[in-house]
Amino acid sequence: MNVYDSDRMTDVLAPLGYAPTQVADDADMVILNTCHIREKASEKVFSELGRLRQLQERAADQQGRRVTIAVAGCVAQAEGAEITRRAPWVDIVVGPQTYHRLPELVGQIDPASRKRVIDTDFPEEVKFDLLPGEHAPRGPAAFLSVQEGCDKFCAFCVVPYTRGAEFSRPAATVIDEARRLVALGTRELTLLGQNVNAYHGEGSGGTVWGLGRLIRELAAIDGLDRIRYTTSHPLDMDDDLIAAHGDVPQLMPYLHLPVQSGSNRILQMMNRRHDRDQYLAVIDRLRSVRPDLAMSGDFIVGFPGETDQDFADTLSLVSAVGYASAYSFKYSPRPGTPAANAEQQIEEAVKSDRLESLQQLLNAQQFAFNKSTEGQIVDILVERAGGRDGQMAGRSPYMQAVNFTGSADQIGNILSCRLSTARQNSMSGEIIDLKGAA
Ligand code: SAM
Ligand code: SF4
Repeated sequence: MNVYDSDRMTDVLAPLGYAPTQVADDADMVILNTCHIREKASEKVFSELGRLRQLQERAADQQGRRVTIAVAGCVAQAEGAEITRRAPWVDIVVGPQTYHRLPELVGQIDPASRKRVIDTDFPEEVKFDLLPGEHAPRGPAAFLSVQEGCDKFCAFCVVPYTRGAEFSRPAATVIDEARRLVALGTRELTLLGQNVNAYHGEGSGGTVWGLGRLIRELAAIDGLDRIRYTTSHPLDMDDDLIAAHGDVPQLMPYLHLPVQSGSNRILQMMNRRHDRDQYLAVIDRLRSVRPDLAMSGDFIVGFPGETDQDFADTLSLVSAVGYASAYSFKYSPRPGTPAANAEQQIEEAVKSDRLESLQQLLNAQQFAFNKSTEGQIVDILVERAGGRDGQMAGRSPYMQAVNFTGSADQIGNILSCRLSTARQNSMSGEIIDLKGAA
């Protein structure tokens, strides 16, 4: 979502004459778009701000040029005052729900008097309505925010506090944005939301659409060949969305469905509102309509009170599901969340051991999944040049990164590819024809 938000900040600043640069030293303004989900992510902001201070001083000393520094995103939302205290060279602090106001905020700063602005409101106005309709091409595979915020309040998570209450964009505005992206060359869209499958946007004729309905409508857009969505909550996998996995060919056979823990006791303490069997039952239903569905998930180890048995339950759930990829983290206490104050915090060394065992199992599953696709012929969407000369990179329907020998003019094409060699995090492939070339 930060990638999407950063692109939108670029759009909103374009009328002021700003254009993106890849070279920080060339910039007149640097915006750090930040994440607060784990402590490590927010610590990085302060070390990065130290580097940006030097950049700002270099520009002033060597070129007499004033560089504006802004901090956006969830660290800005949660720690706005702390940022301006610890890093007084920051000019703008803007939260995730107010970045459409960036042009006004830029107008308000006054480097001479060191006047800084902090805007971390949760405004009545809807950011999406105020962002520009026009935007730059986003490439063959793009993100599209359809839902934001969360009302679930898992005991470990800052999202409800930083992104605010759950909000779904009206379907018509999502469809318009999707059409514009497709007209600019996008062929794959990943629909985004902190809880994307809780989507309940205004549909046509005063109806409310769930994510399944939205996906069906998007699938009717000519030129939109692939649809994905992330991140989902197991409780919000409703019948229509599950059915869409079976009957919407554009919906790719890959699903990121976090579970966090395999222990019912921990799930309850996390306030996840589902148990292990409910999660496994959702996956069974999905696989009954889409047997080749590749599963991904998120796991937290070392949640307060997690015993060896609880952790063993997580390992057994992983064995039962068989993941094609997954993300796993040590529990990180976040200020203001209920679990941060819980007794029975788990020692760092125990967290590290558990994370290592879990990742060993998940890595083995990922490799086994990749291995099982060797020899298959799949469509890949070519997204960019690969790491080596003459190499191109794309994604399989199962979200695997696929490298193959090709050329830059293939970017944006969907090509038929034989997956040849499995690696831990990617596949090698060979293009076998130009089926579906744009
Ligand atoms: N809404 C999604 C769900 O409920 O599964 C998760 C969204 S959250 C932005 C992304 C992931 O970050 C979570 O699935 C969780 O694994 C991880 N996460 C969130 N808070 C965490 C914390 N305090 N410590 C460690 N990992 C955390
Ligand atoms: Fe955070 Fe996801 Fe739980 Fe919402 S459902 S509180 S985003 S982990």
